[in-house]
Amino acid sequence: MESFSLIEKQESLDVLNYQIRVCKKCRLSATRRNALIGEGNINARILFIALSPGAKEDVQNSMFVGPSGQVFNRLLVAAGIDRKSVFMTNLVKCILPKNRKPKMDEITACNAFLNEEIAIIQPEVIVPLGYYATRTILTKYPNNPFAEGRSFKEINGRLLTINRMKVLPLTHPSALLYNPSFEMDTIENYKKLKLFM
Ligand code: SF4
Repeated sequence: MESFSLIEKQESLDVLNYQIRVCKKCRLSATRRNALIGEGNINARILFIALSPGAKEDVQNSMFVGPSGQVFNRLLVAAGIDRKSVFMTNLVKCILPKNRKPKMDEITACNAFLNEEIAIIQPEVIVPLGYYATRTILTKYPNNPFAEGRSFKEINGRLLTINRMKVLPLTHPSALLYNPSFEMDTIENYKKLKLFM
């Protein structure tokens, strides 16, 4: 894989981010305030992929600033991971109305942006948060766990190597808003990322 200097990475991200901000490739452009770009350390070894911006993120045009963000921050602190050292982005860059699930055509329309972010950041490990981001990342490859009949629950917290890429699927912080009792197990899984710090 071609590696980029810091300046080249930033220039490539600037071009990509402009395309994201003005994108109207799917219906979600009609209901968003902001299409969110990725944020964080562009030399990060860990790249988190959340589902989509929430209401607060949409208004403030920034990642993980709402209730899920508070959970995310808590998980990172408990796992000993500095938020400033990682890169974060969304599978779908625009808010999903009424917190509904993403439609396949919306994920597909937005996916080129995600692929480009991964190609620019070149993380050591990709961390899809929750089912949709995990399915999108893994099903690009024929020999993926979903094709083998495994569920998200079975691979949640397991470090996978697929096509020479390391992927660690983890619970999305928003899931803990509804199921706070999962928090201790989730922290243990987030701690597995310390390998990459
Ligand atoms: S969700 Fe993605 S593809 Fe759809 S309008 Fe927003 S940025 Fe474009």
